[in-house]
Formats: sequence, structure tokens, C-alpha cells
Amino acid sequence: MNRRAFLRCLAAAGAVGPAVFAGVASPGHAAPRGRKLLIVQFGGGVRYSESIGDPQRRFIPRLWNDVVPQGALFTDMRVEGPVVHPLSTGSMMTGHWEWRDLDWTRPVAHPTLFEIYRRANGATDLKTWLFAYASILARAGASGVARPASAGIEGASATGSDCAPNVLVPPTIPRSAQEEMDFLMQAAAAAGSPEARITAARECARLARQTSRIDLEGLRSARARQFAWEQYERWKASDASSSHDLFLTEAAIACLRAHAPDILTVCYGEIDCAHYGNWSRYVEAIRRTDALTWRLWRTAQSLPEYGGRTLLLVLPDHGRELDESGGLGYVHHSDFYKDSGADEGCRRVWMTVLGPGTPAGTRCAAAIPITTVAATGLEFLGLQASAGAAPSIWPRLDRAASAPL
Ligand SMILES: [Zn+2]
Repeated sequence: MNRRAFLRCLAAAGAVGPAVFAGVASPGHAAPRGRKLLIVQFGGGVRYSESIGDPQRRFIPRLWNDVVPQGALFTDMRVEGPVVHPLSTGSMMTGHWEWRDLDWTRPVAHPTLFEIYRRANGATDLKTWLFAYASILARAGASGVARPASAGIEGASATGSDCAPNVLVPPTIPRSAQEEMDFLMQAAAAAGSPEARITAARECARLARQTSRIDLEGLRSARARQFAWEQYERWKASDASSSHDLFLTEAAIACLRAHAPDILTVCYGEIDCAHYGNWSRYVEAIRRTDALTWRLWRTAQSLPEYGGRTLLLVLPDHGRELDESGGLGYVHHSDFYKDSGADEGCRRVWMTVLGPGTPAGTRCAAAIPITTVAATGLEFLGLQASAGAAPSIWPRLDRAASAPL
């Protein structure tokens, strides 16, 4: 069934009622105008022991020294669904556990925070953006939930997807170019000299850029497509690293400056190179994610539209397996197709929350699902998540304040 047919089916079946798209202002949280929400998914898949749980925090110096002390740290965020990247991402965006059937080619089943915000405020697509590491995360921004007839916005049509955010995914590289790059790197390794490796790496970066393609399907307007195309052209012309997470950071920063979106989410993913089983690449990716998260936050704070009025949520999508569980440890994160092998290393992550109303330098050790992200972000903006979504962390912040970091 294609997407349009799926949406029609949902509407025809009356699968969703008006209540799920209410988007009403939350009692006691009448948000001052001009508030902004920034969500960073510190993905894909980092263990507690290589991040917040490391006594020396060797791989997250920026986060630990410059971000965490400014806000509240939640030390037992729980991944309750199957442990795989799109499930966590989609579930954070709606507040419900999504895609339990592992079919993330479909829209999520509940309205996302982007959609609720756009609908309640009549906001254009330029006000909500999702920068996602890979196309498997691209459907996390929009639901197939029908809009109630009574909750009209002038000009809006009948589905939640009409209030979808702009979604930008990094450029992709064709398989033929990837094979050529593999060949070049293997030949350089056989040659054995560091110079040969450096030359091959440079040639690979050039090949990656020249043969790449950018998918503009997730951009909702001509202005958004123009913006995305400009980011792609800039990336192609540059000779900096071809890191996807770097591309996302630079595009997100350009978006903050160009469009001042009210909700911006960046879903990083390079930590997932751990699947290749190379420890040094895994921890190097954690360090890079740490640095990029800090760069994004520091830039936002320097902009008048964001300084002092932005809520930042940073959390991993999920963890990875423990060494003592008998598998490959950090390399994988359970057999999510069988929903087996998801140990404490996979299920325990953390979240740091900072911005107006959050007590600095505090911690909360309660077990809280990662699905609280949707309600937490929406309540900051004066809105509520859909019926049945996980409650926000705001009531816990008083208790967090009593526990110093
Ligand atoms: Zn993975």
C-alpha cells in the first residue's frame, strides 16, 4: 500500500478521533511567545558506560563540562520498545512507542510534536525541521493521522502529514562509487605507506562528493528545497570531512540563521559505525558527536532568536549490548527482529535538559521512558502531546532540584 492509500484508509476507518490532534494549551504552561525547542538525538546507539556513566567522561568532555552543569540530568532514561534507531526516533517524536511491527516505511501512528506545533500555531513548514542521519529515520517526523474537521487552519487540508516538518537527510553515495572507494582503500592498505592511505582517503572523499545525490522529498516548500539544495552545493564544493553528522550540524546551524525555526531536531548517527566492530572508530564517533552537539548549542545560544529562550534536550536513541551479556558487547544492540538480547546496556540511556525553567546542576535518577520527549518539548511550547502519550518530565524537575549533580 502506498502512503496516500494508507492515509485514505486511516481516515476512512475513523482510526483516529479528534482528541488525538487536539494540541490544546497545557494548563499552567502558557508559553511566552518566542520560545524555541532544540532536540539532539545523540545517536546512533551509545552505551551509558562510554558516555555519562564513564567516571572520567573521556569521550564526552563538552557535554559533561559545558552542557550538563547548566541543566538537569536524567540518569535512567528507558528504551522500552525494540532497540533499533527509527523506533526510538519516531517514538520520541510522538510520545508513543511506534513501529512495533518494524515497518518504518510507514508514517508514525500518532501526531508528532512538529505536526501538533504547526497545527496549533498555523506555522509554516519553515518553522519545524528534522535533520536526520539516514533515510530510515525520515518518516519519524510525520504521522498519517487525520485532522479533526473542527480544528481548522485556513488552507490546511485533511491529514497530519500536511503539518509535517521539513526533513533533510545527508547526501547518499551510489553503490558503484562505494565499491570503488573500498578498492582504493584496500589497495592503499596493501601498499603499506601512510602517504598512500592519505592519498586514497582524499580521493575517496572527492569520489563521494562527485557521485553523491541529495533527496529533496522531505522538503515541504520551494524555499525549503532551495535551502536544502544550497546546503548540498556547499558540501559538494567543500574539501572538509564528508562526515554525515558534520553535514547535519552545518545544515542545522545554517537553518537556525536563515529560518529561525521554532522546533529543530538533529538525529546524529555515526556512532552506529560500532557495528563494524572497531572500538577506536566507535569512541571517535562519540567524541565527534559530543563536539558537534556543543557547536550546535553554542551557536544557538549566540543568536538573539535563541539565547535565553531555548529548551535543549540531548539524549541517545538507545544503548548497545553489555560486554558481560555474552554477545559482541558494544558492537550490536540486540536482535530487534526477534526482540531478543536487549540487555541493560541497550535499554538504559540518559537525557540532559536545559533552558528556561530547568534547575542547573541537578540530577534525577528515576526510571523514565524516552517517549517523554514529545510531551516535555510540547509543554515548554504551551501545548500537549496526543492522548495516551508518555507524560512530560516537568513535574519531576522540582525533585531533580533537590539532588545535586
Ligand atoms: Zn545500529
